[in-house]
Amino acid sequence: MKAKILELQQKSSLLEPGIDQMKDLNQEIMSFVYEFLGQINHSKAYQKIPDMKGKMEGAEEIQPIRKILDQLKSDMTELGLNPASGGHLGYIPGGGLFAGALGDVLAAVTNQYAGIFYGGPGAVKMENELLRWLCKLMGYPTSSLGNLTSGGSIANLIAFVTAREARSIRSADFDKQCIYLTTQVHHCVHKAIRICGLQEARIRNIPVDSHYKMNMIALENSIKEDIQLGFQPFMIVGSAGTTDTGAVDPLFEMSELAKKYNLWFHIDAAYGGFFALSNLPSQGGGTVKDLFKGIEQSDSLAIDPHKGMFLSYGLGAVLIKDVASQYKAHYYRAAYMQDSIQSQDELNPADLSPELTKHFRGLRLWLPLKLYGIQTFMYALDEKILLCRFFYAEVSKMGFQVGPFPDLSVCIYRYVPKNGNADFFNQKLVQYVIGDGRVFVTSTTIDEVFWIRLAVLSFRTHLYHIETLLSVLNEGCQQLAIELDGK
Ligand SMILES: *Cc1c(COP(=O)(O)O)cnc(C)c1O
Repeated sequence: MKAKILELQQKSSLLEPGIDQMKDLNQEIMSFVYEFLGQINHSKAYQKIPDMKGKMEGAEEIQPIRKILDQLKSDMTELGLNPASGGHLGYIPGGGLFAGALGDVLAAVTNQYAGIFYGGPGAVKMENELLRWLCKLMGYPTSSLGNLTSGGSIANLIAFVTAREARSIRSADFDKQCIYLTTQVHHCVHKAIRICGLQEARIRNIPVDSHYKMNMIALENSIKEDIQLGFQPFMIVGSAGTTDTGAVDPLFEMSELAKKYNLWFHIDAAYGGFFALSNLPSQGGGTVKDLFKGIEQSDSLAIDPHKGMFLSYGLGAVLIKDVASQYKAHYYRAAYMQDSIQSQDELNPADLSPELTKHFRGLRLWLPLKLYGIQTFMYALDEKILLCRFFYAEVSKMGFQVGPFPDLSVCIYRYVPKNGNADFFNQKLVQYVIGDGRVFVTSTTIDEVFWIRLAVLSFRTHLYHIETLLSVLNEGCQQLAIELDGK
């Protein structure tokens, strides 16, 4: 048996390369990285997706590193959207900080376990310290915590499960619960409501004002009506930066109503959260920061460092004041985990989320934050706000119809041609921009009107990209006018 064991050890030794082999592998991979990032300012934001037949196949085939990297290039990085590009102006971009990626390397190589303090005290302490730092930024008391999640979707889910627990809502009463939101909440809010079992709850779509913000009179009337009907007003979901238009709901007024009627107040700040630190003047007087007044009054909030702190995909956070309820909703005990209960210096992330074994995702935030400091991020975020405002002004001058003045770094616009269907024209215009490929935009439909969106949030997006978009739109309009009039 021993001989067999040693033979197997020898045969599988490829899994543990020596220093020289590691260096070789690393050199190949890093030259791929340097080439990719070296060209990032010139590479296309979007390339047409070809026939994928034959692409990214052969998962079981052994290949040398160079071949593997060649395949990544031809079958992955050069197809479709390039989310690392500064020309990504659609959806909600972020970019992907190099230092964050190196944080992932360190997390993966050391394979620290950030689920339980007993197993990874330093890793758990780091993640909890990051959460306490985020709480401080948002004006939450020091007793708050939350969880580092894979993104905003899971952050919202954990918040809703906690709210359900905090209010001791029994399944028999699910259909009496009322949740107040607007049509502008991110779809993952509805997803999370369904996943946490509350699909039978009464979802009240509160009307929005001309800036797509929740109307407070309508909100209070709806709550009062529900009380009269014998229902149970349960939760208000506000958005601090909607996906469609970047609007920040009147958070302070919402928090006042939440207090008055004893509702859980959750804020989805997945996109906009970090703008709460911006001291740039805002349109109505005051600063951007002032738009977020009341955020500190919420019970829970979701915020995505893979958006506002430009990290690669895979890092969101939920912040929660009522940590006891968060714990009660998520903790577990098992015989095989009995050794780990003793030390309780820090709460275990595994007791505060659905995950047990988890990606040590704190380090990808820790590294860039310690290297550059939050102020550097704020310069970049302020730049994004101003780029959006610049675009908004310029595109208006070009004769486009625009939505409300942007609260943050997202705005909507559309071209209304003299003749023909405007929605059709703008769909064509989006296709024109995407076909050009230097920058990438997406669209949305609000109240049955088709709008093109601008979302500036990649740290790599600069004036150059916005000016490129403006000139591509200009060209596109001229081209389409000829094309469509010619018919
Ligand atoms: C992106 C986004 C989400 C979803 O977050 P993920 O990180 O994609 O899971 C939720 N709400 C808003 C406002 C968003 O912008």
